[in-house]
Amino acid sequence: MEDKFASIRNLRFVLKEVHGVEDLFEYPYFADHDSGTIDLVLQTASNIAKDLLYPVLREMDKNPPEFKDGNILVHPTVKQWIKLCGEDGWIAAEFSQELGGQQLPNMVSLAVFFLFFAANYSISAYLQLTAGAGRVISKFAAPYLVEKYLGKMLTGQWQGTMAMTEPQAGSSLADIATYATPADDEYYLISGQKIFISSGDSDAVENIVHLVLAKIKGAPPGVKGISLFLVPKYRVRSTGELESNDVTTAGMFHKMGYRGCPIAHLSFGDQGDCRGYLIGEEHKGLSYMFHLMNEARLGVGTGAAAIASAAYYKSLEFAKMRTQGRKANEKDPTLPMVPIIEHAETRRLLLSQRSIVDGSLSLILQCGRYIDLQQVAPEEMKDHYGLLLDLLTPIAKSYPSEMGIQSVSQGLQIFGGSGYCDEYPMEQYYRDARIHPIHEGTTAIHGMDLLGRKVRMRDSKAFELYLNEVRFAIETGSAVADLKPYAEKLGQAVELLQKVTSHLMTVSKESPSVFLADSVLYLDLFGVVTIAWQWLLQGISASKGLVNQASETDTRFYRGKLRTMKYFFHYELPKILGLAQRLQESDLLTVGMVIEEFDD
Ligand SMILES: Cc1cc2nc3c(=O)[nH]c(=O)nc-3n(C[C@H](O)[C@H](O)[C@H](O)COP(=O)(O)OP(=O)(O)OC[C@H]3O[C@@H](n4cnc5c(N)ncnc54)[C@H](O)[C@@H]3O)c2cc1C
Repeated sequence: MEDKFASIRNLRFVLKEVHGVEDLFEYPYFADHDSGTIDLVLQTASNIAKDLLYPVLREMDKNPPEFKDGNILVHPTVKQWIKLCGEDGWIAAEFSQELGGQQLPNMVSLAVFFLFFAANYSISAYLQLTAGAGRVISKFAAPYLVEKYLGKMLTGQWQGTMAMTEPQAGSSLADIATYATPADDEYYLISGQKIFISSGDSDAVENIVHLVLAKIKGAPPGVKGISLFLVPKYRVRSTGELESNDVTTAGMFHKMGYRGCPIAHLSFGDQGDCRGYLIGEEHKGLSYMFHLMNEARLGVGTGAAAIASAAYYKSLEFAKMRTQGRKANEKDPTLPMVPIIEHAETRRLLLSQRSIVDGSLSLILQCGRYIDLQQVAPEEMKDHYGLLLDLLTPIAKSYPSEMGIQSVSQGLQIFGGSGYCDEYPMEQYYRDARIHPIHEGTTAIHGMDLLGRKVRMRDSKAFELYLNEVRFAIETGSAVADLKPYAEKLGQAVELLQKVTSHLMTVSKESPSVFLADSVLYLDLFGVVTIAWQWLLQGISASKGLVNQASETDTRFYRGKLRTMKYFFHYELPKILGLAQRLQESDLLTVGMVIEEFDD
């Protein structure tokens, strides 16, 4: 089969025509870039994805990492890949020039990751973890730690991780039991267990730098007592040599998908000599880690949309090639069979996939734009973009994650029985995609975060800003004749979202236990409205593109966009009616059920 897994034309459209990446180059911080450099970056990333990452996609799935003599051995391409990413500046791309980076806008970096993830999710995760951990170190760690550790991470010699989860504390980080004892002015002694740590050990690099959440002895209970430590696998002596830091790889978990990247069980301080270096201030660790977690959540959304994109292109190719049956209005059995793309249901499946992939991608790059504006906007506007980003992060993580699985499943369905067999990569995409609603906070956690915290924070200021953004798109869309009905539909959807939200705010006062009971449904509803907003924005840009004397290929592209936008508004948006109905019932149906009633 062809090796198309993403569309560069679409990435350029969303980056430039929908979200105006070129405006960012007006700011001195991004002034070294222009439209041409962005095209070059995307093309280079796409070539690497095609030539290095995609060819080992299936091989890495069939030959997952091995745990041998206390070490995790990974596929040899991982080493080559990390080295290349270090040497060619992909890990440092978004970092400041001062730190050896290129000050690439986050939007562009997310587009690059989309290409890498679509080609091979597992191998790309190593890169993302190091860059994310490096960013936390650069922002919050003491200068001597930055000097000692960051350079080697950005050049791909050392790997970064985020080590939060423990056997008894997954979603409930307040209950972590890893603890830190002050030892001298410079370090603490760390003791505890962490599980499921992505790229927690690997022979592809010389050293691993873990960002570990732990509680200093005597700290306040709950999340207010959590601190963040830099804990290397090998610590750096004053002479620059590396020595063991008493971090043991106790095991490796065997996963259903995403098998090219190991998840490790790590034990810290078995010999009482594991040194951890405090990052920032004591007890404020979770707030620092949130920088990495929020970035990783956007990364998860990107990965989910990217895998769904790869599955879409495979199923599109198959649908054009596979012949079965005849057109619905054709009864003559002597006529040749038609490609299955001639059947309405196959087209519905393809449109559904595409509406999920392109809608999710647009939301992710919208968030990337807020990150960039937060970085460069005047001081008084930083809070504005920060609030929008905070509100949208649970949606940008969860919508692509949940709907990405549905999208891949629809692609697999197009393959019929062949989709279920490993002759084609669809079954792998399905397995790979399944992790996304689980890691970086399960969907349940994001539902509660959105409804319980984000919508209400600062007197609902973020929610108000969001409504203004959507209303602005509605106003712009209403001025385009073809889009007016869709702008109206979005207007009605937003009104419904507001109605449901104010109903739930009343419930929160009257019956707190019922308030959050259906928060995942609220997340679903908010997600669909948000993706409809992103589709209207894409529709506005596609309409503009058509007016501006588009070439034949561009005309086809814009028409395809408008058709997919219409699909979303006619097939997906109406789903909010059912969700809204249930959310306004707010009763004790689930929370009131006696546990024994589940039995038998
Ligand atoms: C492949 C993979 C990679 C990972 N990588 C990392 C990593 O790099 N670093 C790291 O620290 N961790 C990592 N994790 C751990 C991951 O973040 C956790 O698995 C996840 O947060 C869920 O925790 P848990 O598995 O303990 O499930 P639990 O927290 O036990 O949850 C079990 C179920 O209960 C639900 N639940 C829990 N609490 C509530 C609640 N209050 N209300 C409603 N429902 C609730 C959950 O939604 C879930 O459905 C990884 C996991 C996997 C599988």
